[in-house]
Amino acid sequence: MWKIKKELLEEIIRAAQKTCPYEFLCLLSGKNETIEEIVFIPNINGKNFVEINTHNIPIDNTIIGTIHSHPHGENTPSKADKKFFQNYQINGIINYTYQINQVRFYNKKGETIEIEII
Ligand SMILES: [Zn+2]
Repeated sequence: MWKIKKELLEEIIRAAQKTCPYEFLCLLSGKNETIEEIVFIPNINGKNFVEINTHNIPIDNTIIGTIHSHPHGENTPSKADKKFFQNYQINGIINYTYQINQVRFYNKKGETIEIEII
C-alpha cells in the first residue's frame, strides 16, 4: 500500500485552501511506495476545471500521481478527471471540507484505493 506523510498532505491541503474558490492541482512524486514530494506545474485555475498544458509536465519517472481539489463539491471524480487519472497510478481529490480524513484516492481506472497516512 502506498503511503503519504501527514505533513506533506497537510501542506497540499493548505495550498489548495489558498487557491479556493479555484481548483488546485499538483503532481505527486515518490518511490518505494511512499509519496515524498509535490511537484507544481504551471496551470490555469478554473472554477470547475483545472486546465493543464501537458507540455509543462516534467519528464520524471518518479512522478506517480496527482492531487487536486473540488472547492465546491464532493471528491467524486468527474468524467474529465477519470480521463486524466488514466496517466497516473495515484490520484487524490480534496473535497470542499479541506479535511485530511476526507481526501480520497483513486487508481488509473478511477477506483477508490487506500493510501496510508503516516
Ligand atoms: Zn476533479
